[in-house]
Amino acid sequence: MRLFLRLLLRNRLAGFGAVVLAAIVVLALVTPLLPLHPPNATNTADRFLRPLSGAHLLGTDHLGRDLLSRLLWGTRLSLAVGFAAAVTAGLAGAAIGVVAGFFGGRTDNLTMRGIDMLMAFPYILLALAIVAVLGPGLMNALIAVAVVNIPFFARNIRGVTVGIAHREFIDAARLSGLGNAGILWSEVVPNVVPVVVIAMSTTIGWMILETAGLSFLGLGSQPPQADLGSMLGEARAALITAPHTSVVPGVMILLIVMSVNLLGDGIRDALDPRLRSGALARPMAATRVARRSVPPPSGEGLLRLDGLETQFHVGSRIFRAVNGVSLALNPGECLGLIGESGSGKSVTAMSVMGLVASPPGVITAGAVRLQGRDLIGAPYEVLRGLRGSKVAYVFQDPLSTLHPLYRIGDQLAEAIRAHAPVGRAEARARALRLLHDVRIPNPGDRADAFPHELSGGMRQRVGIAMALANDPDIIIADEPTTALDVTVQAQVLALLDDLRGSRGLAILFITHDFGVVSQLCDRVAVMYAGQVVEEGPTAEVLAAPAHPYTRRLIACVPELGAGRRALAAIPGLPPAVDDLPPGCAFAPRCDRATDACQSGEVAVSGSLHKVRCHHPEGRP
Ligand code: ADP
Ligand code: MG
Repeated sequence: MRLFLRLLLRNRLAGFGAVVLAAIVVLALVTPLLPLHPPNATNTADRFLRPLSGAHLLGTDHLGRDLLSRLLWGTRLSLAVGFAAAVTAGLAGAAIGVVAGFFGGRTDNLTMRGIDMLMAFPYILLALAIVAVLGPGLMNALIAVAVVNIPFFARNIRGVTVGIAHREFIDAARLSGLGNAGILWSEVVPNVVPVVVIAMSTTIGWMILETAGLSFLGLGSQPPQADLGSMLGEARAALITAPHTSVVPGVMILLIVMSVNLLGDGIRDALDPRLRSGALARPMAATRVARRSVPPPSGEGLLRLDGLETQFHVGSRIFRAVNGVSLALNPGECLGLIGESGSGKSVTAMSVMGLVASPPGVITAGAVRLQGRDLIGAPYEVLRGLRGSKVAYVFQDPLSTLHPLYRIGDQLAEAIRAHAPVGRAEARARALRLLHDVRIPNPGDRADAFPHELSGGMRQRVGIAMALANDPDIIIADEPTTALDVTVQAQVLALLDDLRGSRGLAILFITHDFGVVSQLCDRVAVMYAGQVVEEGPTAEVLAAPAHPYTRRLIACVPELGAGRRALAAIPGLPPAVDDLPPGCAFAPRCDRATDACQSGEVAVSGSLHKVRCHHPEGRP
């Protein structure tokens, strides 16, 4: 709740709306206590008095009634009717939507066709028809406005409910013995309440307007009772001669509807969990860069990272996901990047092409050089030209990276045509060749399959084919085999290794599996808490790990045929990246740590086999 309020108030416009609305509501609540003229007392001698004339602060109307008093009483009425209509429509619509969506089948069909029939009429005509049948009056106007808004809520909530009704937690509740009513109440309703609240908050303003509209036409509140709409209606005749009688209720309607809408938008944004971690904005086309200086290149290499720092700025908290990573990737080489989940591997990889979402991501220091050219802060057009054609990515979960509604052949062809000016037929031929290259049997047929029609291993091959589509120099593979079983994993790894040989690809291979590293990688870098703690030729690092973290990580891996032994585990947990300890981040979990490790930056030692440690293994 506190988080919700904080988010809501961070949105200036929503805060403004909340303040204005609160002021109006308070005024409406205390109206009976204020020393006002009676709202319906006529005095024709004082007709059409201008504002600020004598005892009447806002002047009088065509019957000499005090406008201020009528305005406040009218606001009270309009607000009450608008809120009541919104709550009625929201509850009734939500109930219909939940029942229809949950039970589905015939129930759904019947109710939704009924709702569709309501929706087939223009809503204001429908409201007029309802009032015509029930007779004019404020209560009937309320009913009419509520009824015409029910379809909106019913459709919305039905959609949400259908999405929930077949989820596993509903099945689990059923297995635990809950009946339909119990499931509806304890599982479905809590999940749709936020949607109902959001829909209500964004439509209340609309309903206040509709009620005012009916009153304006003389179908809502009846004289002498005032609501904002009927005040406007009565003032219409004197619009030119005494404009203040129209302006006063008009401005109040404007203030109410505007403040309700601003607040409603704010509530919607604050309740949407996707908007919580980022600011209320779309991510930028490339990661934001805020670095003071550009470090000089520290050596050669096809791709070179020098002192890269990437952070997430969320509110006042700073998550330091990558803290000064320096790596080099040479042509035709495979570099493994290994580390526990959360150690910053993916963020490092995404920073290379500026793919970390901003907000909240910020690159705060370092350089990424591709063939000597710095990519950090490069113009978007340059990055876009390089993404996919020079540096391509393969992600962990192909089911979420492939578009579910397009055939894979078309998606591949699109990737090709985004970079090369080729025709449809040519692009398709190339797509088939790519599918063949990644050993998908029968590429001609398979190209017409949708992603869900393929197995996990095949989808991952499509992902690799897509990365290869524009003949890149570098492939960054982010745990591409984690979602696969071991035999398919072996095939995919062999495939990548072959492609590396035949096309001269350089691969940055991210994984948390030492077996994969030893099979594929020439060199390996070990990451911990956003830093590379050890780097060197794979065989050397695996045979003689120098950093205590690497040693203990390797000790966690079971070995076939090595006899029974208790698997080691590393005590403690990786540090939270918004609160990194000073000194070596691994020191609190390390059995070799001394006082020197608890403070200051730990320097990297070694040239070929580098290690960031004061007390490396195997060295005095
Ligand atoms: P991994 O090594 O498993 O690939 P990541 O690179 O994905 O780890 O994440 C590194 C760190 O960055 C993690 O501690 C994660 O919590 C943090 N992080 C990632 N994305 C965000 C974000 N949008 N906001 C805040 N922190 C994030
Ligand atoms: Mg990751």
